[in-house]
Amino acid sequence: MPDRIYNFSPGPATLPQEVLAQAAQDIVNFNNKGIGLIELSHRSKEFMAVADEAEALLRELLAIPANYKVLFLQGGASTQFAMVPLNLLGPGQKASYLNTGTWAKKAIKEANLVAEAHVAYSSEATTFDHVPKNGDYEVDPAAQYLYFVSNNTIYGTQFADFPKTEKMLVCDMSSDILSRKFDITPFGLIFAGAQKNMGPAGVTLVIIRDDLLDRAPANLPTMLRYKTHADKGSMFNTPPCFAIYVVGQVCKWLKAMGGVEAMEEKNKEKAALLYGMIDSTDFYKGHARVDSRSLMNITFNLPTPELEALFIDQAGQEGLDGLKGHRSIGGCRASIYNAFPRQGVVDLVDFMKRFEKAHC
Ligand SMILES: *Cc1c(COP(=O)(O)O)cnc(C)c1O
Repeated sequence: MPDRIYNFSPGPATLPQEVLAQAAQDIVNFNNKGIGLIELSHRSKEFMAVADEAEALLRELLAIPANYKVLFLQGGASTQFAMVPLNLLGPGQKASYLNTGTWAKKAIKEANLVAEAHVAYSSEATTFDHVPKNGDYEVDPAAQYLYFVSNNTIYGTQFADFPKTEKMLVCDMSSDILSRKFDITPFGLIFAGAQKNMGPAGVTLVIIRDDLLDRAPANLPTMLRYKTHADKGSMFNTPPCFAIYVVGQVCKWLKAMGGVEAMEEKNKEKAALLYGMIDSTDFYKGHARVDSRSLMNITFNLPTPELEALFIDQAGQEGLDGLKGHRSIGGCRASIYNAFPRQGVVDLVDFMKRFEKAHC
């Protein structure tokens, strides 16, 4: 076995090797203090400094304005599907949703349990092969917010431009946060599970405009209220300490790489290598419409499911791991988040060429 394979998994996903090495040391002996990182009290000054630094780096990298709170929560991105409408929609209120894939659909289901979701657009009829453009849909005039998923991890589609509307935006950025620069001010709330592009599983980042903290109904249980966590700096109860630490380390790495703008250029270049390969032949067919292609998850099919299975198996034998597509659409998916090395993409393109020659 090689020291390290190329891991194309959609999540939990590959992390910078330097970050893993540092974490391995700190788990055993944090900053030479004779105590392991995951043994530290979350209220110790050592861990408070870790959490403060992670927040400060996120604020810097994403240019988060002072009137937004940064929260580190648990329960995964999936808990946010319910927390968003529970906190932001009062009785009889509704919100508009763009149904661009499995994760959007799950959020719509939860919103309908709590209040009312108006589905302003759906690409389900074409197996979620695209995201809408501005003008393809109308937001309900009574909607409190417009909800969308910036990158559809399973289908490999992404909003190149965010929706433009008078309403505030709410976004699930689980699989492309920190991959590109954007303006936060049209957003009321952004959330992201860490395990795609930011760190290990276990922490969910929530960025919320502070005037929204008082919207929750009085009978909402304490742990489900954003205000509970905002008031206590995400320390109302024990936070996911290790995951927060790794997010901080990944942010440090990202800053040293030149920040999100530099990362965006790298991500564009890596994705172009793979899409160039797909477009150069009829053997591989991209799932996403060209105008909706994701820079993070590249989905494609081969002529038959048998060839797809063989492709995934042989790629795995060459150390190109995790290329199986999601069970809902099959085929192949290469997830190439920030920390995925360019050389792994080059090696995959080379493998794709050889595989095509041998099987077309
Ligand atoms: C993975 C994913 C989720 C689900 O995340 P969990 O943390 O497992 O709940 C939600 N939304 C998107 C866009 C995802 O990629």
